[in-house]
Amino acid sequence: MTTAARAGRRIRISGTVQGVGFRPWVYRVAIDAGVTGRVRNDARGVTIEAFGDDDALARFVRALETPPPAAAIEHVDLAPIDVEETDGFHIVRSAPGVDRLVSIPPDLAVCDECVAEIFDPANRRYRYAFTNCTHCGPRFTIAADIPYDRATTTMARFGMCPACLREYGDVHDRRFHAQPNACPICGPRLTLSAAGGVRMPVDDVVRAAAEAIRDGLVVAIKGVGGFHLACDATSETAVRRLRERKRRDEKPLAVMVANLDAASQLAAVDDEARRWLTSPERPIVLVARTPRGPIAESVAPRNRMLGLMLPYSPLHHLLLADAGRPVVMTSANLSDEPIAVDNDEALERLRDVADLFVLHDRDIASRADDSVVAIVAGRGTVVRRSRGFVPRGVQVRRAFARPVLACGALLKNTFCLGAGATAWLGPHIGDLDHLSAYDAYVAAIARMERFLCVRPEIVAYDLHPDYSSTLYAKQRPEAVKIAVQHHHAHVAAVMAEHGIGGPAIGIAYDGAGYGTDGTIWGGELMIATPLSFRRLATFRPLPLLGGDIAVHAPWRIALALVDDAFDGAVPDMVGSLFGVRPDDVDVMQRLLHRNVHWPLARGVGRYFDAFGSLFLREPKASFEGQIALAWNQAADPRVTYRYGFTLDPRSDCIEIDLRTAVREAVADYTEGVSVAAIAAAFHNTIAEATGAVVRRAIADVGSLPIVASGGCFQNGLLAERVASALPAGRSLLLHRVIPPGDGGIALGQAIVADAIARA
Ligand code: ZN
Ligand code: ZN
Ligand code: FE
Repeated sequence: MTTAARAGRRIRISGTVQGVGFRPWVYRVAIDAGVTGRVRNDARGVTIEAFGDDDALARFVRALETPPPAAAIEHVDLAPIDVEETDGFHIVRSAPGVDRLVSIPPDLAVCDECVAEIFDPANRRYRYAFTNCTHCGPRFTIAADIPYDRATTTMARFGMCPACLREYGDVHDRRFHAQPNACPICGPRLTLSAAGGVRMPVDDVVRAAAEAIRDGLVVAIKGVGGFHLACDATSETAVRRLRERKRRDEKPLAVMVANLDAASQLAAVDDEARRWLTSPERPIVLVARTPRGPIAESVAPRNRMLGLMLPYSPLHHLLLADAGRPVVMTSANLSDEPIAVDNDEALERLRDVADLFVLHDRDIASRADDSVVAIVAGRGTVVRRSRGFVPRGVQVRRAFARPVLACGALLKNTFCLGAGATAWLGPHIGDLDHLSAYDAYVAAIARMERFLCVRPEIVAYDLHPDYSSTLYAKQRPEAVKIAVQHHHAHVAAVMAEHGIGGPAIGIAYDGAGYGTDGTIWGGELMIATPLSFRRLATFRPLPLLGGDIAVHAPWRIALALVDDAFDGAVPDMVGSLFGVRPDDVDVMQRLLHRNVHWPLARGVGRYFDAFGSLFLREPKASFEGQIALAWNQAADPRVTYRYGFTLDPRSDCIEIDLRTAVREAVADYTEGVSVAAIAAAFHNTIAEATGAVVRRAIADVGSLPIVASGGCFQNGLLAERVASALPAGRSLLLHRVIPPGDGGIALGQAIVADAIARA
């Protein structure tokens, strides 16, 4: 090879390329292709300088197109550079501070090669629960500080044995620079404890735990981002026991199955569900359960869907293999508290919940619940974004002028940090009304600020004056505080996801969000830019009889709905539907007509509650949105007819009036039309009304992108029907990687606050 034939290339690669074994892989590819040069991490990803003849460089660049399993290349930038005489190919260690912005990757599901090792009796990691390599294993949850290096993780206290050190130092090894590298000699160990903390000496902790699960006991298991509570998912008694002890009303519990075959036996698993079930993020995937399958009814009472996930740690693989059946794996907490992470904390908080505790000595530095994906209109949509995704950033179209902290909403809270062209959503925190959740929230914000070296200058928060997140925002030290309307934030979040700088026609349907007029909104259509919005339409408001109680007693909303539609002359059948005595109906009606200013709610979610409560004869909801969900699942998708509605022009915006629909649905019911058909017709009515408003907006302002957000758009049928109610050729842009519910709202808050601060 002569010097004259050599050329040089600088290749910049962005995406998920750090902490996933990318640089050693580049090294091996370079050696194979016969190029020399170097690779290093930088603030945006990875930069390679490669030298060689044209053939070698072409081979090298082509090979870079198939990255290791956990990596995701977003962008490749290729430029010629001057040739350097280099000796071999090198991995350049990053200078401290250089790669901070992207230095901590999300947790990755254990890879196939590691799984093969733990099931191979001849391997030194046979049945070792902490097996990992550069392609897999914990990352964010073990990171205590930056940069991401063994010394700053909770693995720091485990000194590597000579065999592990050899792997760690060998660039040709799958464990080259795998920070959590460990083996049974030198790494973390499992222990088994009884409730109360007494250690139980056993030969094999996982086998003992699996036996206990088969015997119907509840076992607390320390996982990757927190503790799980596990029990036999096929045993009604075991699941009931868990539910009673956990005081978890009727919220569905997630189930872990050994593999895709097992998943397919329990539910309808299509290609999209399969793709997500086996993704490195390994979320819980919501799938339609097989009727009369082996799963206990109490796992998801009155619910047609099942939350399934596949094992994502070596411990899970061993446990599921030993248990030989589907296992409930639910976050170990009481009701909506944050997930437990410390051994002592778990032993204390779960002493009356779990019979046995599988503990270990690798600490969890950052809490991360399991993420959840729903299939909406044929595609996976992240509805809870936590383990596996956090702290991966989302690229935004226009860089933030100044660093922003967005505090999120109240329920399903997440926060967001924005700096440069990236927005980072924090882990799922939960319901901020719980004191312990609030503490976890404050700690998680501090940790993410430190990890990402972002010092916010602007604080964005929800317009609701009483949200804990609002109170937190107000006592932050930053000078600039910007309140963002809830539904504007929802719309801005979905616009950001699709790279739309505005204006767009935004649809935001959810349960409740504070409006600029002090009433509760939630059925909003608007023309929005990141800077501002103009309301096009909303839904006719329903009084919440007794205030927030009505959300858990949706029959009260149903009564208000029918009373409004029939002008006070509520048909007799309505009271009897709920098994509520006529006297009680009278009392409620009198309350309704007395001059009390009940809070008015415009949420589409509340219409779902009211219709569902009425026709499914469900007076109460054990958790927010339960009846709305049941009403969605009751619908027969083959039904295409709809009920009447009117678009009522008001001074500020159109009011969508469904009183005709209520009367027609009641008439249908009285005539014996199936509830499945009524539920479908209801969906079609909401969709048609939405389409009608959108058509008017287009006639008015011309063609704009149409985006949809809000918790109601986790409902696949509604999303599909709204999409098909749009004018021909227009598509509905939905969320995919950002949750449509309040878990995604912080992103929108950050975008809006940035626009307002610039203006
Ligand atoms: Zn691996
Ligand atoms: Zn070792
Ligand atoms: Fe919302």
